[in-house]
Amino acid sequence: MIRLMNVHKWFKDLHVLNGITLHVKAGEVVVVCGPSGSGKSTLIRTVNQLETINEGEIWVDGKNVADPKTDLNALRAEVGFVFQHFNLYPHLSVLDNITLSPIQVKKMTRPAAEKLAVELLERVGLAHKKDAFPAQLSGGQQQRVAIARGLAMQPKVMLFDEPTSALDPEMIGEVLKVMKDLALSGMTMMVVTHEMGFAREVADRVVFVDHGEILEQAEPEEFFLNPQHDRAKQFLRQLL
Ligand code: ADP
Ligand code: MG
Repeated sequence: MIRLMNVHKWFKDLHVLNGITLHVKAGEVVVVCGPSGSGKSTLIRTVNQLETINEGEIWVDGKNVADPKTDLNALRAEVGFVFQHFNLYPHLSVLDNITLSPIQVKKMTRPAAEKLAVELLERVGLAHKKDAFPAQLSGGQQQRVAIARGLAMQPKVMLFDEPTSALDPEMIGEVLKVMKDLALSGMTMMVVTHEMGFAREVADRVVFVDHGEILEQAEPEEFFLNPQHDRAKQFLRQLL
């Protein structure tokens, strides 16, 4: 479903992605972890072209996404993205946040989009908040709306960049639960997170990134019990 091949990215003379090769199969859940500044956000953002790349190839569901001819609206309809800071539209209700793209990009009728939005809000436990505005919701609720908004485009892949890092501790669980349910439903997911409990329970594979390189990738049990690389060992020690 996702195939990165020898991807390089520079910000001016800063080599942020240094030859990343990574394959994610349909239905797989891959957790990306690594130190701050190691290139995790840049990496995941290349998959839906929030960041362009300088070298290499990225394919999503058989489409070459780094090709300048790629229709970015169509790509982003297939690849949902959940940000650390939710990024809901503050002037729109919860319902309108979710229906906006299906109506504008997918040309869904408003009644069909609203029906879908309500179903998704039920799935994330927030149907009763459909008329609220983002500022009236807790961080955990906003992030669950953001996930529903991503799902409203009926994507093939969902990307998450530290979706619980901006949340108060008591709200992390409700967001992880929604993500776990999504994983169990068979969604292909790439998740940048330091929630190692989630990684252990839900991920098929953990990818450890440092200085723009994948130093290690393994099944969660293997990675946590028997990390190979010194920098992975050091990283895991710091999480404890
Ligand atoms: P992580 O998500 O692992 O913390 P990032 O991908 O955000 O790492 O950043 C990797 C490196 O690239 C960092 O050194 C960061 O400062 C730099 N960087 C990120 N975005 C930009 C940008 N838009 N312009 C210049 N440098 C950037
Ligand atoms: Mg980041």
